[in-house]
Amino acid sequence: MTKAASGLVLVLNSGSSSIKYQLVDPVAGTALLSGLVEQIGEADSPVADHAAGLRLIHQQLVDSGIDLAAVRAVGHRVVHGGNLFHAPTLITDAVVAEVARLAELAPLHNPANVIGIEVARTDFPDVPHVAVFDTGFFHSLPAAAASYAVDHDVATRYGIRRYGFHGTSHEYVSGEVAAVLGRDPGELNIIVLHLGNGASASAVQGGVAVETSMGLTPLEGLVMGTRSGDIDPGVLFHLNRTAQMGVDELDELLNRRSGLKGLSGVNDFRELLEQREAGGALGEAAGLAYDVYIHRLRKYVGAYLAVLGRVDAIAFTAGVGENAPSVREDSLAGLDGLGIVVDPERNRTGKGARVISADGSRTTVLVVPTNEELAIARAAWQFV
Ligand code: ADP
Repeated sequence: MTKAASGLVLVLNSGSSSIKYQLVDPVAGTALLSGLVEQIGEADSPVADHAAGLRLIHQQLVDSGIDLAAVRAVGHRVVHGGNLFHAPTLITDAVVAEVARLAELAPLHNPANVIGIEVARTDFPDVPHVAVFDTGFFHSLPAAAASYAVDHDVATRYGIRRYGFHGTSHEYVSGEVAAVLGRDPGELNIIVLHLGNGASASAVQGGVAVETSMGLTPLEGLVMGTRSGDIDPGVLFHLNRTAQMGVDELDELLNRRSGLKGLSGVNDFRELLEQREAGGALGEAAGLAYDVYIHRLRKYVGAYLAVLGRVDAIAFTAGVGENAPSVREDSLAGLDGLGIVVDPERNRTGKGARVISADGSRTTVLVVPTNEELAIARAAWQFV
């Protein structure tokens, strides 16, 4: 059997002040090299802008000794595809212009994506560049799940709907669940819980996303590292009227000073667990943050059980989902009556994609490491 080692894909994830990269063999499914350039454009950072950041990455690739002629495509993670893009898309000037225009919906993310794309296209001019949209997997949401109950004309005019994010991860993980179970994805109902710095839940029916917790922006839904997740919009009116907080301050409050960080002072989950262990006033705050996090997660699991009617599998993924057994145990505790039983021993041991539910559990609970870079590399490879 020949395993066509016919080339590599460079996967780029350009944020506002960082570029993550990975050099992937899409056929073997392995990463040859990965890295991160940070603090782009920040005061006294040696990396002045994204062009300098990409030059640095280019140099790291050269230094690695890997033959760059083997790079046959570049895959770009793009945050917002709006109503325009869902499938992986070959990047042209027209596509770049549309992604830039969608910055209206993702002011922090899309402009950085555009800069990353433009610089990389000059750097790797002879290979296809492919955009993979974080919103793509969720374009299939039924109208009942995608629509906000607001004035129809306002919603239509300003593109107000639920788009969902982390789509590449939810799609990849739900596919892996089917592979681990040896089942046809078309016959499975799955809840995917992506718990990283950002966090989102999705309900996937026969391989198609039917519900997700993030909305117009990645702010809605679960409690996250620094984001509040669900909140009564009335809080914003109240703070505006009584504390004179303007829109930028409120944006900053909910996106950067809320979530675990807002409740406990730390946004990193490992630090949260340590702080809770340490006790005292800080430990109490961390304990509350943990409880709010778990409570919200349980609410979403319950909601998605009802959305799907029958749930074959629940999969935990990303930094917290893959590495924090207590989160998996606590969020699903006491759900035996609903056919969900986590096996404590399986939950605390093992590595890689694995089943952690008890043998008699009607719903199979799994841990599935996500791999967005591989998913993006495979998508880009289609264009080679
Ligand atoms: P990102 O959204 O930036 O890709 P990750 O998926 O890497 O984030 O998740 C980062 C989060 O995972 C951090 O809050 C980190 O503390 C948490 N995490 C990583 N390892 C562990 C662990 N062993 N136990 C608990 N949390 C962990």
